[in-house]
Amino acid sequence: MTTYDVDLFVIGAGSGGVRASRVAASYGASVAIAEEYRVGGTCVIRGCVPKKMLYYAADFASDVAKADRLGWQFTDKKFDWPHLRDVILSDVQRLEGLYTQTLNNNNIKIYQERAVIEGPHQIGLASGKKIKARHILVAVGAEPARLDIPGAELAVTSNEMFLLPELPKRAVVIGGGYIANEFAGILNSFGVKTVVATHGDIILRGYEQEMAQRLVEIGQAHGIHYQFNAALSSIVRENDGSLTATFSNGTKIETDLVLFAIGRIPNSKNLGLEAAHVALDKKGGIIVNEENHSSCSSIYAVGDVTDRVQLTPVAIREGQAFADRVFGNKKASVDYTTIPTAVFSHPPLASAGLTEEEARAEYKNIKIYKSSFRPMRNALIGSDDRALYKMIVDGHSDRVLGLHLIGPDSPEIVQLAAVAIKAGLTKQDFNDTIALHPTSAEELVLLR
Ligand code: NDP
Repeated sequence: MTTYDVDLFVIGAGSGGVRASRVAASYGASVAIAEEYRVGGTCVIRGCVPKKMLYYAADFASDVAKADRLGWQFTDKKFDWPHLRDVILSDVQRLEGLYTQTLNNNNIKIYQERAVIEGPHQIGLASGKKIKARHILVAVGAEPARLDIPGAELAVTSNEMFLLPELPKRAVVIGGGYIANEFAGILNSFGVKTVVATHGDIILRGYEQEMAQRLVEIGQAHGIHYQFNAALSSIVRENDGSLTATFSNGTKIETDLVLFAIGRIPNSKNLGLEAAHVALDKKGGIIVNEENHSSCSSIYAVGDVTDRVQLTPVAIREGQAFADRVFGNKKASVDYTTIPTAVFSHPPLASAGLTEEEARAEYKNIKIYKSSFRPMRNALIGSDDRALYKMIVDGHSDRVLGLHLIGPDSPEIVQLAAVAIKAGLTKQDFNDTIALHPTSAEELVLLR
């Protein structure tokens, strides 16, 4: 009979890998995990967490700019980017410590080095050590895509944005998705002259487009410049140190920083997956079934490396369900319907459920309710930014199918509203709920 060194070997100590390891260990499995960079993975180290901190700091910058209207006077307003960067980096380090502690507390052996698959049950570590595992879980995430153009090496990705030695005066953000719009809002709030350039004619494809258009209008009003149908063709470093970004439509933009935010590619290269006949899709995502099982019976994958829904909470759910099934003998599965998502732009957007387009493709009788309003806070600080809320309802059953919000606090509001959508509540249920006044969220129960 084959003997194994561990019941589970996890490659990648990000959100999905850490959750799966911890839960598997709680069921009594012997678990080891390898991480070649830092425990915590993309979300904690160079993604959601430091991004949200930057987002808050950028909000604060906007508030300071408006503070005199509310009676405050600052004689010597100065912004020190290295200071903010280091505050954020030290908090990230604290969280990395907590993640490591969680693994240690659960007796999970951590290998701080690269691991590759050498066979269906065999792991090879960079140090030369070999480990036999009954099950292998690949949770290595994804990395930012880069354009293959002259001068591409002069651009940065989101990874480097948290480490910038100084803030640029001007920035060109390539892409129109989550990362592009989040960093555009952050940079612009810090006073960086920001251009968003995308190759298509819209931003936030897949999102409710009325919200995306509202973001563009507000972004423009706050000084962000948008370039559509603009495919970047080269980046050149000039003698004065600045960069020239040239686009296929002939536009040239002088800038100090070019950020690639054009999607993320699964980290499946050079991982030895072929040694275990693990099948990949065209983008390099590991193909898995609904139980996160790859084409090799002892190898599973969760999170961004499967290239399905690239969101931290989804990776965590997949890691949890994997461990519950394989080590807890439970019938666990992940429900991918009504996943709430948010773009932490300025202002933020948030959504749960179907867009109008998706709903019309699926249902015959759709009712749309909308409210465009100036939140009280905006009125107080003299901002003309208007929030937009949109509810999509099945006219036949009265069920709420989708909610799409842009405006202050919309991610906080949508997290709760997603529970109502998931529970199958109707428009009448929303109508019957007494408003909480004065809030922006009350608009959701007042839509007529
Ligand atoms: P996205 O997939 O969100 O967006 C990519 C964007 O880049 C699209 O607007 C796309 O346009 C554009 N694009 C693609 N190729 C080019 C090109 N050659 N030139 C110019 N533009 C191009 O990717 P992100 O990198 O923003 O984010 C990756 C993933 O990370 C997201 O999908 C999301 O799942 C996750 N994420 C989630 C966050 C959150 O939950 N708040 C925050 C950050 C990331 P088009 O659509 O027209 O092709």
